[in-house]
Amino acid sequence: MALWKEIKAAATKHLATCLVALPSILLSTLAVLPEKYLPVEIAAQITPAQWLRTVLLLLAMCVAAIAYAIYVHPKFIFIKEIGAWKNIKFNVFYCTKCMADDKQSPMLESPDGWRCKTCTQWYKNPDYNPPPSKKPKRVLRI
Ligand SMILES: [Zn+2]
Repeated sequence: MALWKEIKAAATKHLATCLVALPSILLSTLAVLPEKYLPVEIAAQITPAQWLRTVLLLLAMCVAAIAYAIYVHPKFIFIKEIGAWKNIKFNVFYCTKCMADDKQSPMLESPDGWRCKTCTQWYKNPDYNPPPSKKPKRVLRI
């Protein structure tokens, strides 16, 4: 049962990569096939406008795949001083405990640290200096 969960988690994690890579591999394999295996009869019936639409669609798919890889896919770095992960694109911290469970849980930020919204784990801000306490002045009464 645990093996099935691991397989499912790994497959889900890499699904987007597979969806992008599979058409690329398939189309590049078709491109290098010998001419006798290519469906030339079908290609001869396609008009130039349909070829143009097909090429434009493939270019749009390539641009979308590159945009996904660059802009949408989150990029995380581990911040040792805090002990948490940081999304470098959006400048948001993520809980290490939840990341270990394959959950991306952005944390609530306060001046003295960060708190996970999911598991309530607290991460202290090492650069935080608490303000000087304001003790009420003693009034001497005679
Ligand atoms: Zn958490």
